[in-house]
Amino acid sequence: MSFTTRFAPSPTGPLHLGHAFSAMLAHDMARAARGQFLLRIEDIDQSRARPEWEAQIYDDLHWLGLRWPDPVMRQSDRLPRYRTALERLAALGLTYPCRCRRGDIEAAAGAPQEGVPQFGPDGRIYPGTCRARPMAETGPEDVIRLNMEKATAGLPPLAFTETGPDHDGLQRLDRRQLIEAVGDIVLVRRHMGSSYHLSVVVDDADQGITHVVRGRDLFEATQIHVLLQHLLDLPTPVYHHHRLIRDASGKRLAKRDDARAIAKYRAEGVTPKEIRQMVGLG
Ligand code: GLU
Repeated sequence: MSFTTRFAPSPTGPLHLGHAFSAMLAHDMARAARGQFLLRIEDIDQSRARPEWEAQIYDDLHWLGLRWPDPVMRQSDRLPRYRTALERLAALGLTYPCRCRRGDIEAAAGAPQEGVPQFGPDGRIYPGTCRARPMAETGPEDVIRLNMEKATAGLPPLAFTETGPDHDGLQRLDRRQLIEAVGDIVLVRRHMGSSYHLSVVVDDADQGITHVVRGRDLFEATQIHVLLQHLLDLPTPVYHHHRLIRDASGKRLAKRDDARAIAKYRAEGVTPKEIRQMVGLG
């Protein structure tokens, strides 16, 4: 089987050691398999994406020794494609517009109950307030959600192959888990034309990605992606969720941890080889 993977950063801050690890690991795996490494810029959140961060991403990745074919896919160029995918889910009767704000959702969720999950891979599990609203009512301030109960009704057994260090092997999707611990995920965010989940499955399919290499933090979201792939008739790649690079106190690195920015190490004279060693790829 051919091997095509990708690195898909959002240009909303500097690349840090965690991103470097993810990108280099994917690049190494593609090379070992004599496959392809692609780059994708995940910039649907135009309120946070900045051209200077995108330029810095290209520059840092080049400096690390990574190469990829042009043109690079950019999500902001692909809104009509996401619209088509959404329309397909809407035509199946699986979507609804939601006007709830964070405060409404918290109020409707009520007091936490023991054993009932409050948060899933898409954030707070939606209590269903707007579930009966028809798509025809969609207004500019609404988000679009997937009705998880309907989306998983009559589902054939779905699974994906995971090759990462924490969950090796076949992972089966579970309908109750999707309804109770994931819930009605957002397919289109307010003023964004799409969401991470919808875009990522459409893009991985359109780029012909056979192997997704990304952080362990996205393992739980993968069941959403596999479900959407099924509903949209898209192939399911093999997944590899790698360990996360943590800071000295054991906390996972985030965009705001500028102290670990690749650009900062570069300015201090650290070499790409030393970066590889720092993340354990040496
Ligand atoms: N843009 C996502 C991130 O930076 C990548 C998600 C993915 O690789 O699927 O976390």
